Amino acid sequence: MLHSMRETIGMNKRAIGIWWRESPGMLVELIFYVITGAVLPYAGIYFSAQIITELAGAKNPVVLRNLVLLLLGIESLLGLIYHYFKNRYTVERNRMLEKLRYILSEKMLSLDFEKVDDAVIQDKVLQIEQINRWSRFGLCMVVFTLERMLQAIAGIAGALMLTVSFFQAKAVKSAFLWMNSPLFAIVFLAGILGFTTLASRIVERAQNMIAELSERATFGNRVWSFMAGMAGEREREQDIRVYEQIPAAMGLYEKNKVWGIGTEMDRLEKGKVGVLAAAANMTERLCSGLVYLLVCLKAYGGAFGIGAVTQYIGAVTALSHNLEEFLGAIGEVNTNREFLKKTFDFLDTPNDMYQGSLTVEKRNDCQYEVEFKDVSFCYPGTDRKVLDHVNLKFRIGEKLAIVGENGSGKSTFIKLLCRLYDPTEGEILLNGINIKKYKYKEYMSVFSVVFQDFKLFALPLGQNVAASTEYDADKVQECLKLAGFDVHSDRMKKGLDTWLYKDCDADGVNISGGEEQKIALARALYQNAAFLILDEPTAALDPIAEAEVYSSFNEIVGDRTAVYISHRLSSCRFCDEIVVFDRGRIVQQGTHEELVEQTNCKYYELWSAQAKYYA
Ligand code: ADP
Repeated sequence: MLHSMRETIGMNKRAIGIWWRESPGMLVELIFYVITGAVLPYAGIYFSAQIITELAGAKNPVVLRNLVLLLLGIESLLGLIYHYFKNRYTVERNRMLEKLRYILSEKMLSLDFEKVDDAVIQDKVLQIEQINRWSRFGLCMVVFTLERMLQAIAGIAGALMLTVSFFQAKAVKSAFLWMNSPLFAIVFLAGILGFTTLASRIVERAQNMIAELSERATFGNRVWSFMAGMAGEREREQDIRVYEQIPAAMGLYEKNKVWGIGTEMDRLEKGKVGVLAAAANMTERLCSGLVYLLVCLKAYGGAFGIGAVTQYIGAVTALSHNLEEFLGAIGEVNTNREFLKKTFDFLDTPNDMYQGSLTVEKRNDCQYEVEFKDVSFCYPGTDRKVLDHVNLKFRIGEKLAIVGENGSGKSTFIKLLCRLYDPTEGEILLNGINIKKYKYKEYMSVFSVVFQDFKLFALPLGQNVAASTEYDADKVQECLKLAGFDVHSDRMKKGLDTWLYKDCDADGVNISGGEEQKIALARALYQNAAFLILDEPTAALDPIAEAEVYSSFNEIVGDRTAVYISHRLSSCRFCDEIVVFDRGRIVQQGTHEELVEQTNCKYYELWSAQAKYYA
């Protein structure tokens, strides 16, 4: 109990620390708006009571005028300050979701690729974001609760100040003398506390039912998030239309949704949650009724005048309301516990990959030698060897082709080379040193890669190629030309400033898969790294464009070491050496001419199967 309380306080402190870092202004504005907001109603209650007392008593017009002017002046000034800070705070508060997304993405980007690739982690992030979006639970709720709690504390302090004189005032009529005893004050305050605790417990129960539902609603929410964005997705547009996916998807959503008419939420609101809300409300009303009764009785007993009755009723009602808010906020903290835990679980995901500290020697002569030494690899959570005792040395300046059937381990080999994963057994060396020992960024500066599933960005062409907003336009032009992309075509009206896709610019151009591949190749060339790695780089090109890339491949690659992955053997003939992968093993190695002569081996089998298409 004590441990979990300490943990809850720790997590909330950490969450407030995060918001303080992300948005310090928001918390400062919150404090100002809460303090002025707390004083505001009591200023009204206090001066109204004074005015009524004056009206019921001396009726001095000068005193009355001064009281009214004071009331107006103080209320206007406080109101102005209150609204100024409240508006500023609300604007900041509304940006929390956006900031949360930033916090989550930042963590995601800092994680080992292996973790990002993991479905469990992906799922965690999605859930955190969804719960914050749908019900505010999680990091966002901490600010809402803080607001509620501060408001309640300020309200309680104000109310107590205005009620002190209620207990001090003495009833004079003999039947009401019992109201003068300290015991009355204790029972009175305890009664208020009792009623409000009861009301807030009831509300908390209702809230827990809804929170539980939001936990279970994950699937429905996920379906909804996916569906809501789907209609606008360019890549899916054709399939959505041809296969009429929206009604099917909406059907799935309707079946699993938890919000709206006829859903479980609806049933709860009309049933248990509704009854609980009514019960909480009734408890509050009952408490107010008793307060009215006791305050009026004490006035009737001669303790104070009519003006003070307004003050005490106002103050005691506010006291009970704020106590309830305070307890409600504590309930909210408890409900939010699990959601915060989930968030910090993700934010604390450790990176297990060893981070080296060596720098890579910068060489203009591209003399970098890479060697796979007895490397085996299983994907995390599996025990199937996707690479099995692979030994391979890249000779400097050579063009190496890696071929093999789909699933034989070619892309995995590249992922290991790029240190997206570390080998399960064996080691990969750069100039004789295990690649783990280098700083990752330094190590990767040696490679330019075009992944099979590369992505371009909805940015201008030049920025895509340079992967930067600032770039050397001549170099970009040169790389695009080498990759076979025509910048001067009619479609590229603004040259390198032409936006790709229509996401960010209505005049952006939608380009074909083949054109995308050429731009991705130019992007790799612009990096000017010693190694050029191309994973199926011509898969989306038509045969003529493919032939063009091959014929200029030597020019494209220059003196770099190139690794070229393909399952189309005809495209590898120009390479100095061909390595054949089969079920994770290197089964053959040599030039095309050497390999094609070994008629009982894998390469010949693949070649014969494909040759008829190229005859
Ligand atoms: P290729 O590039 O030769 O087509 P891959 O390297 O992509 O082959 O895949 C080799 C094997 O590893 C395949 O059986 C594939 O299913 C498996 N594989 C690829 N990626 C993952 C992953 N993230 N988790 C588990 N298995 C994977």
